[in-house]
Amino acid sequence: MTSASVPASGTTSPDLPAHRVLSGQKALVTGANSGIGMSVALALGAAGADVVVNYVVGDDAANAVVDEIRRSGVRAIAVKADVSSETDVERMFATMLSEFGTIDILVNNAGLQRDAAFHDMTLTEWNTVMNVNLTGQFLCARAAIREFLRRGVVPQVSCAAGKIICMSSVHQQIPWGGHANYASSKGGIKLLMESLAQEVAPQRIRVNGVAPGAIRTPINTSAWDTKEAYARLMTLVPYGRIGEPQDVARAVVWLASDHSDYVVGTTLYVDGGMTLYPGFATGG
Ligand code: NAP
Repeated sequence: MTSASVPASGTTSPDLPAHRVLSGQKALVTGANSGIGMSVALALGAAGADVVVNYVVGDDAANAVVDEIRRSGVRAIAVKADVSSETDVERMFATMLSEFGTIDILVNNAGLQRDAAFHDMTLTEWNTVMNVNLTGQFLCARAAIREFLRRGVVPQVSCAAGKIICMSSVHQQIPWGGHANYASSKGGIKLLMESLAQEVAPQRIRVNGVAPGAIRTPINTSAWDTKEAYARLMTLVPYGRIGEPQDVARAVVWLASDHSDYVVGTTLYVDGGMTLYPGFATGG
């Protein structure tokens, strides 16, 4: 297509500096006092966004993240809220809107595991994982979408009326015995993300997913904290190293920025090739 045939009504992504690509934007990261969420919150702040650091139990850790984000010269606040509670989520968004005025970026990151063999899995273990990992993403996305629709596009801020990044997992694709609740929640996130992306793209709202592989965080310590465990893990990772939270954070910043303005309803795998079925590398 020549430039003369580009529809005049289209807003295309401008040339952006490589850093501070999120200047003036307001972001909320759920589960941001630990692991991937913490790294994402720090990276969004370093890219110029004001950040709400959500958490549910770790007050000190959340306050430390807020202090660190503020060193980037942006605003940050910690908001305690259980993402699986409608009341908590509504209160968290009300706090954000009153403090920051609006929301431009939601990173639906909070998640947990309650692992059990299927025949031993309790209904509480099933429900806890589904409520936090999947229903939590629904509740937060709904609140963000309502504000995006109310406000619309502000061209000086972003090409899009809002961006949602859903933290999924390679287990939205790879079945995971002993973790049926977790894998089901992540499979649910994939179609929640895609269905929502399809529904709100006409309003210039971009919804995408990030699917990490094995990332070094407290959620999976036993998978990497001994030499033997690490070696076992590496049989699943063609790239030959564990992922660091910053590997995921960089992908999130890109998806939140106008650099990815034409990326809609996609899952970006950040997994060192874990989803390439490495067991088949030598013929299977
Ligand atoms: P993590 O270090 O254990 O962090 C989990 C975060 O979720 C914490 O900040 C925790 O806050 C928060 N959280 C838990 N329940 C919550 C609730 N009800 N409401 C609000 N926040 C809640 O784990 P992580 O590895 O960074 O995991 C972050 C996300 O990445 C999860 O969705 C996980 O499934 C996904 N993921 C991780 C990996 C990996 O290898 N690490 C791989 C694939 C996907 P509190 O500390 O206050 O409880």
